[in-house]
Amino acid sequence: MDDTRQQRERMVERQLAARGVRDHYTLQAMRAVPREEFVAPELREFAYEDSPLPIEGGQTISQPYIVGLMIAEAQLRPGECVLEIGAGSGYAAAVMGAIVAEVYAIERRPELASLARERFQRLGYDNIQLRVGDGTQGWPEAAPFDAILAAAGGPEVPDSLLRQLAPGGRLVMPVGSTRDQQRLVLVTRTGNDRFVRKELGDVRFVPLIGEHGWRDDAPVTMAESTAPLHARAGEPARTIPGLIRAAAEPLPDFDDPAFGRLFDRFAHARVVLLGEASHGTSEFYRARDAITRRLVEAHGFDIVAVEADWPDAASIDRYVRHTATGAPREPAFQRFPTWMWRNVEVERFVTWLRTFNQARAHDERAGFYGLDLYSLNTSIRAVIDYLDGVDPEAARIARLRYGCLTPWSKEPAQYGHMALTAGYALCERPVTDMLRSLLDRRLEYSRADGERYFDAAQNARLVRDAEAYYRAMYYRSADSWNLRDTHMFETLQHLLEAGGKGSRAVVWAHNSHIGDARHTEMGQQRDELNIGQLCREHYGDQAALIGFGTHSGTVAAAHNWDEDMQVMQVRPSLPGSYERLYHEAGVERCLTDLRPRQHPDLRDRLTPAQLERFIGVIYRPETERWSHYTDAQLPRQFDAYVWFDRTRAVTPLTHEHGSGMPDTWPFGL
Ligand code: SAH
Repeated sequence: MDDTRQQRERMVERQLAARGVRDHYTLQAMRAVPREEFVAPELREFAYEDSPLPIEGGQTISQPYIVGLMIAEAQLRPGECVLEIGAGSGYAAAVMGAIVAEVYAIERRPELASLARERFQRLGYDNIQLRVGDGTQGWPEAAPFDAILAAAGGPEVPDSLLRQLAPGGRLVMPVGSTRDQQRLVLVTRTGNDRFVRKELGDVRFVPLIGEHGWRDDAPVTMAESTAPLHARAGEPARTIPGLIRAAAEPLPDFDDPAFGRLFDRFAHARVVLLGEASHGTSEFYRARDAITRRLVEAHGFDIVAVEADWPDAASIDRYVRHTATGAPREPAFQRFPTWMWRNVEVERFVTWLRTFNQARAHDERAGFYGLDLYSLNTSIRAVIDYLDGVDPEAARIARLRYGCLTPWSKEPAQYGHMALTAGYALCERPVTDMLRSLLDRRLEYSRADGERYFDAAQNARLVRDAEAYYRAMYYRSADSWNLRDTHMFETLQHLLEAGGKGSRAVVWAHNSHIGDARHTEMGQQRDELNIGQLCREHYGDQAALIGFGTHSGTVAAAHNWDEDMQVMQVRPSLPGSYERLYHEAGVERCLTDLRPRQHPDLRDRLTPAQLERFIGVIYRPETERWSHYTDAQLPRQFDAYVWFDRTRAVTPLTHEHGSGMPDTWPFGL
């Protein structure tokens, strides 16, 4: 199966069938029509995303689910004749053409119509007639139609269209009293003057412009979209930016102890999770540094667990807890993206933690740990090294068992591919057995050195989870994401358990990991969970989830995986995003407390989903809207939000930073 057919298959299964679109004809047609042919070349890679995409003239190609839903509700059948209003890219018309005998399509914008016509010709869709005009008047010469679909939202269903329905005909159209919010309605003509109307749910379409639609296409301004929903007479209208301004607690300098004190309200928690809106922004690291220092120093937090690989973080841990015995065998964080941890901001925090620990007894020191699972080879080696020291016979068996994975040590993803082709999980047994035999001998092994045993067991867990992770990557991306975040959560739990009852943790990870996934597109549309959600489910209000955001500035990121780091400009945030609302509040840097009861008005107004920006190690400004924004409900996702209007890139460590450092300095420059 070629790649796009596979993507189409997945789209039909996950975005349509899984959500209740069952109509056989619709599903077959959507399996057949190449959606990527209907978008601009630079957006092809997003053609099968679960969202609408922009087309020329400020219009959109509808989300696959919506196209499928409308066609299924219209119950198109072979042999029928259909009218579409708002042909746009031509995609929906092509899908309908794959079911019925004839499609008549009307598009108001000539430039879109000619592009769509070209596509029909190139792809050989010869049962579609397309004309430029005002679709609200229908196409009387070709009427009656068995079905009429409108892909743009009007204030009412035009009478002219109802009259062009055949007896038994179905019309599906978005209808709403404002131009950018509608309900999808299905009208069935049951008799000459009898129509039955059914509502199918809330939708968002571009406006239907024409004689029986809206007047013109004046853009919806930001002022309109942030206007108060129900301002009472006599009260000054409060906009969302106004409410943010009122709730904002200004942030002092990072070095001012008052910065950390602002977060004392979360110090009762067992786990405080600190996010970031990108992996390369200095302010996010500096803020997490200041907050963590306070939690460690004043409130006894003893675990700092970060979105980094276990073995790399372990060499930082040996440094900060003064257990390193010499220079690390390999400098930490050599794997892409190195700047995420090898940067001046992290080094500064690490130096502080080392100094803080120096004056404390060994068991009162705060440690630094990695939650992530991308270190298959290093972890395998760590387990074998450990066993070489404590039980050479077990080390021999470990070499045999882990040998199953060695052919793929350079490209573990290839292992996943092979396991899929072979049809079974080749190395699952040996890695699981290895972990089990280590755990079975806990008492015996840990007698000599409990910490080293814990480290080895954690590496063995990592190998087991990474084996499953690389396999899952090949059949369902949500599964591999979920395995990874579950691994992170379980690692955190092992750390808390090992630390004992009073042990408490600060987590540093991206907003996408620590903001409750149930309130973002990840959880709602892709079945993805994350560590923030798992912490909330497990610890309730003993988990504090703190998100971070910015409007613009610079960021350290790469254009593609494994490419060099660059300092890139972050585009100003988009209208319709939380970032834009915060920017309009006009506060340079602030904390907003989003817990229920703190600022109920603000919370209510921020709850309807808006866009939110996620920049990882890759940043693609050219396709920013589609690569980096998704819908989220900020006040449900986070307990608090930390805002920096302008931010700058992290500073990677260079040779100069390494000179004069102790032998045990883990960054090795
Ligand atoms: N079905 C399309 C969706 C396009 S968006 C697709 O799959 O790509 C809706 C389209 O309706 C826009 O292209 C817009 O220009 C068009 N439109 C708006 N009002 C219209 C009208 N009165 N008559 C015809 N087209 C209209």
